[in-house]
Amino acid sequence: MAVFFCSFFHQTGPLLCFFRMWPIFFVQMDMDMNENSHPLECLRCHNRDPEQFFYSGNKAYCRKCLDFGPLEAGTLPKKPELHHTVWKGSPVLEFELTPSQKEVSAKALEILQSGRDVLVYAAAGAGKTEISLESICAYLAQGKKVCFAISRRQVVMEIAARLRKNFPDLEIVEVCQGFTKKTDADLIVCTTHQLYRYPFCFDLLILDELDAFPYCGNPVLEAIARQSCIGQRMLLSATPDKQSLQAIERKEMEMVNLFLRPHKQPLCVPTVHTGSTLRQVVEALLVCKRHIRNHKQVLLFVPRIADTCWMKWIVGLFFRCEVIHSKSTDKDAIMQRFHEKKTEVLLCTTLLERGITVPSVQVIVFHADHPVFTSASLIQIFGRAGRSFKDPHGEGLALVSGPSPALNECIRQLKFMNAASGARRSEPDAKP
Ligand SMILES: [Zn+2]
Repeated sequence: MAVFFCSFFHQTGPLLCFFRMWPIFFVQMDMDMNENSHPLECLRCHNRDPEQFFYSGNKAYCRKCLDFGPLEAGTLPKKPELHHTVWKGSPVLEFELTPSQKEVSAKALEILQSGRDVLVYAAAGAGKTEISLESICAYLAQGKKVCFAISRRQVVMEIAARLRKNFPDLEIVEVCQGFTKKTDADLIVCTTHQLYRYPFCFDLLILDELDAFPYCGNPVLEAIARQSCIGQRMLLSATPDKQSLQAIERKEMEMVNLFLRPHKQPLCVPTVHTGSTLRQVVEALLVCKRHIRNHKQVLLFVPRIADTCWMKWIVGLFFRCEVIHSKSTDKDAIMQRFHEKKTEVLLCTTLLERGITVPSVQVIVFHADHPVFTSASLIQIFGRAGRSFKDPHGEGLALVSGPSPALNECIRQLKFMNAASGARRSEPDAKP
């Protein structure tokens, strides 16, 4: 066809060539589409399993992504009308970015501007949200649409509040469960679940916590996230999953690293103590006592909700203790009391592994060899410690009854990040 086109182009000139040839292009395009399309394919989640469709009238609908509204097989989801703002400004920052944050931020933007996706591999507390601000500004300056998407609803609210401080002139909307009346603004912050509302919408999609439940390992959510982005993706993670690392190996996207926290102190690498359950309880109590004597609060992680009941009874005999887990009904009030230092020990499950920052908090993990604690979740858990400038040296203790490959991997990765960042421990009253 190319040879035919060239000879026709020379014979007739460009304009006449186009008008005479367009029916042939159309037929060729139609043939290509027929070859590539599948009689039953969901064009939202790419499900092709005939058993995963149901029929209503003569039409087939995908079951797999039905939670996001019925979509007829072979039909593209409809793109919503969103407004585009041209905004040429700079973010308002409480602290100036550190030289390493500035460097990583500029590098990430350079990669995005070359049309490629970027993974920002940053240690917990290194300031990965701040890294995204320069890129957000660059896209908004060109009137492009930007979205910040995160797995969990609670973190959506926190990020939206932070971005409102960074961009006081911009209208920012959070879209998540309970907040779905307004879905457009200058900057959209949403859960990955809500991205189904925005097919083919975003020029820059920032995806945070992509290794977290429920996004991680959920092909429907991944397909929806990909479909929402027509430009570049910026992925933020402290514990990148295999899939992302493989994509980097295949050169499908690029990676930048930020392992140094703004206070330049190393990440907390846990101490591991092995013993029976009884010994672990006694040790947890002794370490809690030492931390509380030093005016520090403790996050005590247990593997299961059931463990919180008896553990609370024991810990409560000695310290002001509260419990929080996914089924707690008054989570905000419990966290508020912990922030106000009314609680000395907060007993929790992996619910608190991410997203919380409490100054001077120390971390103990009971039964750290339990399968619920993956290496990624342990990296996040020990990432809670030592985040503040006033107290950058957090302490972590992992109590185990036997060997744990996940814990070993967590320690290996934390040591790697400390070695790669060149962080050296200085005196406890280190200033920024
Ligand atoms: Zn589907």
